[in-house]
Amino acid sequence: MIPGLINCHTHVAMALMRSVADDIKLEKFLDRTFAIDAKRTPEDIAIGASLGCLEMLRSGTTTFLDIYYSEDVIAKSVEAIGLRAYLGWGVLDERFTTQKGKPVKNCENFIKAYKNKPLVKPVVAPQGVYVCSEETLLEAKELAAREKTFCHYHLSETRWEVYEHQRKTGKRPADWLAEIGFLSKGDMAAHCAWLTINEVRHLAKAGVGVVHCPTSNMKLASGGVAPLPEMFSEKVQVSLGTDGCSSNNSLDMFLEMKFASLMHKHNRWDAAVLSAQKCLDMATIDAAKSLGADKDLGSIEQGKKADIVIIDSSTPAMVPTREDNAVANLVYASPSSAVRDVIVNGRTLLRNRMVLSADEKKVLQEADEAARLLLSRSR
Ligand SMILES: [Zn+2]
Repeated sequence: MIPGLINCHTHVAMALMRSVADDIKLEKFLDRTFAIDAKRTPEDIAIGASLGCLEMLRSGTTTFLDIYYSEDVIAKSVEAIGLRAYLGWGVLDERFTTQKGKPVKNCENFIKAYKNKPLVKPVVAPQGVYVCSEETLLEAKELAAREKTFCHYHLSETRWEVYEHQRKTGKRPADWLAEIGFLSKGDMAAHCAWLTINEVRHLAKAGVGVVHCPTSNMKLASGGVAPLPEMFSEKVQVSLGTDGCSSNNSLDMFLEMKFASLMHKHNRWDAAVLSAQKCLDMATIDAAKSLGADKDLGSIEQGKKADIVIIDSSTPAMVPTREDNAVANLVYASPSSAVRDVIVNGRTLLRNRMVLSADEKKVLQEADEAARLLLSRSR
């Protein structure tokens, strides 16, 4: 038994856009995904979210943190399947969005409608410095403070983002965010692949958590490597995220733990730099601490919520399992196929590899069909 895994950065509804833009340069990747995204209907978003939730459920993820628009549609899919989710409504300058109305107002409406639900927690998600003005960012911060939630955003994912921001403002993104007074305790910044030690210290001082997304960064050839050892020594809380299916292309947190460890071992020429236990912690208890939810989530303890995953240690990828190698097997043997049962909030959603909370076959057929139609509309 392990605590349910926590995926701290994704765009769940993009599961419908799995493997639509691979092995191409970032600019082309963005053009292609934006073109498809612009054609999406609320039905596509709902079925994409259901597909993503099923994938996470089967790979042992019980909680995730999302950024997207139309989180009200996504919330319904999440609640139906029974996962736990922190849903961040995308906030950005009006001139950059296809959202109707003012994004920060849409976010506020979403928070008001969902703030007292048991499994879904609404979050404010200013997308990133490249589409958010100082005014938008500070409005997002204010809204999060007023509604007692937090901000989740992309930060320093690419070198282009850093240099472009520096050209416009004279400051690197995290230095600038500190200067305008945006950084707040409990916020979560995804990627952080291009940070200086000074920027790491800003995040540490403000109490901002970092969500490391190694697979997405490596697949999109971002080049930068989030400086995890420096973040640990500065006491920044670090968790893991898969990012969306158009960049990863999977929502499997077992793979994310493995790639995190391999990326840093390889980068630092140090096999001890990121242990299997630390990777498991980043996917469970450290993630719960980042979310401010460690009194309820992240470990199996009396008094916490029952978010539990049972692994079948008799499957090939887990044999031999002993007390001394169980954690290494979980992280390096990547046994998501060995997930046998999943319990969220005391409710069994997967039993003996059977999904109990959704008609899986129907969801998969509908998702396949919706993806086919979406691609033909966006050609
Ligand atoms: Zn992202």
